[in-house]
Amino acid sequence: MAETTRDYPRPLPRRRNSMAAEFYDYCKKHELRFQRCTDCGTWRHVPRDMCAKCGSFNWEWAKSSGKGKVFSWTTVRQPMLPQFADLVPYSPVVIEMEEGVRLVSWIIDVPPEELRLDLPVEVVFDDVTPEVTLPKFRKAT
Ligand SMILES: [Zn+2]
Repeated sequence: MAETTRDYPRPLPRRRNSMAAEFYDYCKKHELRFQRCTDCGTWRHVPRDMCAKCGSFNWEWAKSSGKGKVFSWTTVRQPMLPQFADLVPYSPVVIEMEEGVRLVSWIIDVPPEELRLDLPVEVVFDDVTPEVTLPKFRKAT
């Protein structure tokens, strides 16, 4: 873990005044939660005000099972930002959670050449700084 957020070498999520900040507040508690419409039950991510299915503005932060599968990925061999140069090659992945929502994340224990569609994964929490925890994934056990 970086000692301070300022020491962390890569970009971090905004942590104030947004629904996304609330998402990361739960990550800091090592809880993966997504918005779920309290009228029709549809899960959604990234955080937003309105349910795309029924138009409701009523929702809750519902706890995810933490389990999902690899939906897609790309392998970066030439970093677009210098902060990522020491990581190449690396593969940002799109995870499809059991709840149906998808998020972009990392898989910590599968090298790019071993990624495959539908690989079962589960969430792990990486406390990258004292203030910021990122949800990442590993092969499901
Ligand atoms: Zn709804």
